[in-house]
Amino acid sequence: MDVDTNQDLTDEGRRIAQLFEKSPIFMAVLKGPTHVFELANEAYYQLIGHRDIIGKPLDDALPEVRGQGFDKLLDRVLQTGEPFIGREMPVLVQRTRGAAQEELFVDFVYAALTERDGTRSGVMAYGSDVTDHVRARREIERLLAESEKANEELQEQQVELELINQQLQDNAVELEAQAEELQENAADLAARTAEASRARDALAASEAQLLTLADAIPTLAWTARADGFIEWYNARWYEYTGTMPEEMEGWGWQSVHHPDTLPMVLEEWRAAIASGGFFEMTFPLRGSDGEFRRFLTRVVPLRDEKGEIARWFGTNTDVELERRALDAAEAANQAKTDFLANMSHELRTPLNAIGGYADLLDLGVHGELTDQQREAVARIRRSERHLLGLINEILNYAKLEAGTVHFDSAEVDLHETMTSAEALVAPQADARRIALTAAACTPSVEVIADAEKLLQILVNLFSNAIKFTEPGGRVDVGCEKDEGTIRINVSDTGIGIPADKLEAIFNPFVQVRADLTRPHEGTGLGLAISRELARAMNGELTVTSTPGEGSTFTLTLPLAKDS
Ligand code: ADP
Repeated sequence: MDVDTNQDLTDEGRRIAQLFEKSPIFMAVLKGPTHVFELANEAYYQLIGHRDIIGKPLDDALPEVRGQGFDKLLDRVLQTGEPFIGREMPVLVQRTRGAAQEELFVDFVYAALTERDGTRSGVMAYGSDVTDHVRARREIERLLAESEKANEELQEQQVELELINQQLQDNAVELEAQAEELQENAADLAARTAEASRARDALAASEAQLLTLADAIPTLAWTARADGFIEWYNARWYEYTGTMPEEMEGWGWQSVHHPDTLPMVLEEWRAAIASGGFFEMTFPLRGSDGEFRRFLTRVVPLRDEKGEIARWFGTNTDVELERRALDAAEAANQAKTDFLANMSHELRTPLNAIGGYADLLDLGVHGELTDQQREAVARIRRSERHLLGLINEILNYAKLEAGTVHFDSAEVDLHETMTSAEALVAPQADARRIALTAAACTPSVEVIADAEKLLQILVNLFSNAIKFTEPGGRVDVGCEKDEGTIRINVSDTGIGIPADKLEAIFNPFVQVRADLTRPHEGTGLGLAISRELARAMNGELTVTSTPGEGSTFTLTLPLAKDS
């Protein structure tokens, strides 16, 4: 329809028609039940993309919108007269034939057209294309959603950041604590280092002191490694031997040893190194003057905390003078023993002659003797026997002292020896009217002893007991067995021994109240000899006494196995 040229229209109608034509709002009129296009304006054509729709029902004019529900809406509006208002309704259109369908959005109204008689002849459709608007809004919405998402992400990141921040703070606190600890440790270390350096200084000082001391002592001193290699000698070593460190180091010391003793020294020293034991030996070392002097050598191992030998400490002490003195003393002692043995022999020969001639006189070989002469000869005989006894005792004691007495240890029947001793002193006991009973010991007891020496001890004890007991007194002998030993007790009812003399009487030549004992009654050697003999036979001799009441001498001896 061309509104500008249509002569049938009034001016007003033309204006309306122009308005309709030019309106930015799309408009169309669809008539009848098949919705035939009667009118459509430019905007409508723009919307659908083509113009050949007038006089065509909806299905033919816009086949592409079939099935999108517009026909049903139109049906309803036509039937009910109720307008339909659509907002941002999507519609798929094909603006160019053959091209792809595009989606548009439209705001529109379907309003029924009513005739004067009230019948509804068609539907007026009008509205506007809001595609750009919808798209813009959707874009905004999308952007909004995106920004929201971004915001959310941001928030999440912020939470995460906060967490990280918290963690960093925690780490910082921890680091601070660690730094503090480190500082403390550093301080501690510094203190310890200072302490260690003080200890080192102290050690160095004491080491220097020890070295000075080691060099100052008159003793020769040295240290060796665990394997015996000598590393250090003190100044005195070099001074005495006149050697140099390089010739002495390790095993070089052998050059100052005497060839006679060196093999033994080497053997002992190697044995000590192998066993880790103490080394002690006396051997000669050559001095710078070429003379040998004897040295007492002691070597001790120094062990580490594991018990392994770390070092050996050795000292050589000059004992030449002591050794010479000892040698001299030994020689003197030997000379004394020799002298005593010789002297006793020399004394005994003339004494025997005295005895022999006295016997001849007594027998009347040189004529009958007067009573007075007989008495004088008897005195000569007694003195001779006493002197002989003295000489024998002195000789005995000298031999014991010199260690030249030989012991024949054997199982000895105690009862038998006891009986022999009793028989030997019986005359003496009878003379003093003293009862002696030695039968108390069981006959089967056997002791380990030298029978002769045991007899000597018993005779000495019995005769002392008789000697120091007033006539009419008693001497009892008893035995007590005790774990491998036997105690032989010789008890008397004699004068007893004062407490302060109980030990002294075992010393040679000691006699209690020598003034009271007649000179020919003893030498003061009997107990000294008896004790020496007892000890030499692994026994002992002791005494208990009460002055005025009596004494008990106890001889202890080892028992034979089955006794
Ligand atoms: P000796 O009998 O030759 O004097 P001993 O060495 O045998 O020498 O005795 C030393 C001293 O011990 C005696 O002189 C005596 O004083 C004292 N003594 C020894 N045995 C007894 C005893 N049974 N009772 C009292 N005194 C004794």
